[in-house]
Amino acid sequence: RGTTPVPPVVRPRLTVLSGPSGVGKSTVVAHMRKVHPEVWLSVSATTRKPRPGEQDGVHYFFVDDEEFEKLIANGELLEWAEFAGNRYGTPRRAVAERLEAGEPVLLEIDLQGARQVKESMPDAQLVFLAPPSWDELVRRLTGRGTEPPEVIERRLETAKVELAAESEFDVTLVNTSVEDVARELLTLMQVV
Ligand code: 5GP
Repeated sequence: RGTTPVPPVVRPRLTVLSGPSGVGKSTVVAHMRKVHPEVWLSVSATTRKPRPGEQDGVHYFFVDDEEFEKLIANGELLEWAEFAGNRYGTPRRAVAERLEAGEPVLLEIDLQGARQVKESMPDAQLVFLAPPSWDELVRRLTGRGTEPPEVIERRLETAKVELAAESEFDVTLVNTSVEDVARELLTLMQVV
């Protein structure tokens, strides 16, 4: 007779999904929500204008610069970063409430934000979404080919720096298939 191993007490953790721009983070999250709509995802505040189909309070809280300043000044953001000329931040309170209620929490944020979360919440699980290959990322970033070569060049330079951030993360998921990555992410979050 073997001893039944005592399962460790695992508290739900804050999971942060990040990675280079263009790697497909939001596609993975969208798929995950379709399969597991009960998984709570933090809604960020942003100064970016809504894209067609985006709803206030669902995809983002769309705020102006002044309101964003206020959020920062009042300490209401867990982290925030400037990305491509707009500011994005994670409201602190909703995240804290969910964690206190024992629910897993997912943030989908850029690399600068992920670093800040690690600083303030060392327990957070940082997941890096990596492209299947450098060539694949180049293909995605150059996209429709409508941008001038110097813009593409800059994006690629940025991507190179962003890829080097992988070593700062706890886990890497390679984005070969959206379904697979979403499943792996749910496993890491202890949802499935
Ligand atoms: P988009 O404008 O395409 O929705 O988002 C641009 C970038 O901002 C993405 O890399 C996305 O992950 C990131 N982002 C979205 N919300 C937040 C946030 O609250 N904080 C940080 N640091 N980045 C965010």
